[in-house]
Amino acid sequence: MTEIARRVRQFVQALVGKSATGQGLGRHRMWMVVAVVIFVGGTVGSAFAGLAVARNGSQKSHDAFASSSSEVASTLQLSIQHERDLIVSASGFVAGNPTASNAQFIQWANSVDALGRYPELVGMGHSVIVPAAALPAFAAQAVTDPAGPLAANGTFEVVPAGNRPFYCLSVGAISKSVQTAFPAGTDFCATGPSGVAALDSRDTGIGAYLPIAAAKATLLSIKVPVYRGGIVPTTIALRRAAFIGWVGMAVVPEVILARALVSHPEIALTLHYDAGTSNVVFRSGHAPRGSQSLATNLHNGWTVTTFGAVTNGGLLQNGNGLGVLLAGTLLSLLLGILLFVLATGRARAFRVICRQTAELRHQALHDGLTGLPNRALIMDRIEQLLARSSRQGTTGAALYVDLDEFKNVNDSLGHAVGDRLLVAVAARLQSTLRDADTIGRMGGDEFVVLIDGGSLQVAPEMVADRLLEVMHQPFELAGVAMPLTVNASIGIAMGDRKSPGDLLRDADVALYQAKAAGKNRYEVFHAEMQTEIQNRIELEFDLRSALEGEQFHLVYQPIFNLDDLTMVGVEALLRWDHPCRGIVGPDEFIPILEQTGQIREVGRWVLDQACAQMADWHSRGNLMELSVNVSVRQLDDEFIVDHISEALRMSGLPATHLVIEVTETALMRNTDATTKRLHAIKGLGVRIAVDDFGTGYSSLAYLQRFPVDRLKIDKSFTNAITSSPESKVLIGTLVQLGRDLGLTTLAEGVETPDQMVFLRGEHVNEAQGFLFGRPVDAQTLETALRPCLPKAESTDPTVDVTIAGGVR
Ligand code: C2E
Ligand code: CA
Ligand code: CA
Repeated sequence: MTEIARRVRQFVQALVGKSATGQGLGRHRMWMVVAVVIFVGGTVGSAFAGLAVARNGSQKSHDAFASSSSEVASTLQLSIQHERDLIVSASGFVAGNPTASNAQFIQWANSVDALGRYPELVGMGHSVIVPAAALPAFAAQAVTDPAGPLAANGTFEVVPAGNRPFYCLSVGAISKSVQTAFPAGTDFCATGPSGVAALDSRDTGIGAYLPIAAAKATLLSIKVPVYRGGIVPTTIALRRAAFIGWVGMAVVPEVILARALVSHPEIALTLHYDAGTSNVVFRSGHAPRGSQSLATNLHNGWTVTTFGAVTNGGLLQNGNGLGVLLAGTLLSLLLGILLFVLATGRARAFRVICRQTAELRHQALHDGLTGLPNRALIMDRIEQLLARSSRQGTTGAALYVDLDEFKNVNDSLGHAVGDRLLVAVAARLQSTLRDADTIGRMGGDEFVVLIDGGSLQVAPEMVADRLLEVMHQPFELAGVAMPLTVNASIGIAMGDRKSPGDLLRDADVALYQAKAAGKNRYEVFHAEMQTEIQNRIELEFDLRSALEGEQFHLVYQPIFNLDDLTMVGVEALLRWDHPCRGIVGPDEFIPILEQTGQIREVGRWVLDQACAQMADWHSRGNLMELSVNVSVRQLDDEFIVDHISEALRMSGLPATHLVIEVTETALMRNTDATTKRLHAIKGLGVRIAVDDFGTGYSSLAYLQRFPVDRLKIDKSFTNAITSSPESKVLIGTLVQLGRDLGLTTLAEGVETPDQMVFLRGEHVNEAQGFLFGRPVDAQTLETALRPCLPKAESTDPTVDVTIAGGVR
């Protein structure tokens, strides 16, 4: 309802020239014009229709009036005819009985039932001319049989009284009542105009019709001359000579008129008699204002004029026509509004659909979080890129960008922060690129940058370098206390490919290599990488059955105290005896195990196995320390603490002789869960070492947070001792740091006596490396230990070493 009201308002606004939106204005105007045309057209059409209806109605009304008038006229004519019949009949009687007495006349009148058959008849009579001389005789006769009431004293007296040469007196008369009866001596010829008319009628032979005033109404007096022989003589003289008298009657004309109007109450009429000296008009009914009239000649001097309301043919005067006009106008208005409402509604719906379709299209092709093109659109863009490159002979490139350790951000700071970081990363990457380059999000923390060969002014490697560089700046995110440092790895694929999928796959392979090569770098795809990937896929497959197939075994690398060069412990390192490939190193398969999650199971096996082995050595008097590597994924598992204590319990190895090695990058994730678990592990009595120390690129704040006992300085520093003075300085700093924090330090990868000498000079506590001994299986190590000599037999016997505690 409100929607319709709104659109009607729009319609009105459109009418008065105000429209809502600029874009909608044109369409609104157009539909408004159409609506107005419909309204005007409809109104004009309605006017014509109304006019036709009015005309038709008027015609019908006219016809009805004419037909009513003619009916009324016929009825009147019949009544007049009827009256005339009575007169003719009375005339016949008088002509045949010129001397008939009053009694005889009454007898005749009764015989024809004059009063009964003619309700309008007040009275009728037969009168004659009585000369003055004959009056006494006439009076004497009249007293015996008076044709009307005598005077009060019972005598016959002429009315009006007076002496006149002749008198026109009734010889016979009947009347409806005594009140309407004329006195017996009434001189009809002395009653003014009617008397004159009566005498005229004698001469003309034409009956006289005259109004006469009676007590209550005006009556119509009819006087018809009667001549001897019953016919009207041709001349006045002859007529005077043959004249017998008159047949007269008085009628109430209203009765006749009312009878004529019985079935036409809407009609008024006048009845006009005009002949000879008679000119009389009777009226009945009330003519409405502005009514029409129709005169009908009834002949014999009678004319009837009827009056009646006739529907006007004019549109505004005709109710029906006006109704049609108004209804049509209203309908056109509603139709116009309806059309406008529907049309603009349709147009609006169309616009909404267009907008939504565009939105859907955008949604279908763009990433909801960052607004960047999504995989589908990127694939399409790569297809265009490849087509353009092959046409123009240029070399386009796809850069597959993947954030390093993004999962840690999600895990430690939550997905909301992760999402914010992705948006920030997308914006930063985008700002680094030129307009010609395309960046899209493939999902998760993966982005793809396309570099068009045609606009390739810089090598894709340089673009990758720039991208890595901008990523080094920490991200300051709202609601996150510390700036976040995120690195990325990039795989680059260049040149022609059969399909977009091929180019993308190659970039992905290169990315994998970049990750494998230590992350935070880029690699350019080359054909051999494909084999490496294939290799990886096979390894992944074979690893699934490795544990069950008992293809794993542990080797142990000795750890020496640098002060007295005694062997104080071993680090357990995992090996895989691949049925076809032979021994596979952990660097190749540990990342796969981590990725598939198998590391939890395998790691537990390592713990059990190594603890059991060390407990066995302990039982045989070699009280060494055991170092076991624990990966990030293992630390994520809440059961790690149980697994460690279980391994210790099962083997009987004292917790104090177990060191858990956790890489620096694993510790830097700095999650509450990790902290909690490390404390729990520490609570068992187990010590914790930071593996690969110094390779991290973040602050060392975690060292205060975690219960760390030992720093294992990464072998890359040891390696660089001889070549780089900075490395020496750095090692010095790291050792100092350890000392300050009360931690023991261990140098990994010691291969040369020079390195050992330097490390001893720096007061590094312990060392590990090929110089002291390569990782060997338990058996081999045992044979090396068995002689229980101060000089331990190393696999690399370039240095004299002793084994702590000796071997029994
Ligand atoms: P890592 O924990 O740093 O282990 C030391 C690695 O350095 C070993 O490689 C060892 O053979 C090598 N190494 C020792 N002395 C020298 C030397 O003087 N020069 C050189 N160039 N290398 C030396 P390995 O056994 O191949 O292990 C590689 C990595 O695999 C380990 O690095 C460790 O991170 C991981 N790893 C091995 N075993 C396990 C395990 O059971 N669990 C887990 N989670 N990771 C393991
Ligand atoms: Ca280690
Ligand atoms: Ca290490």
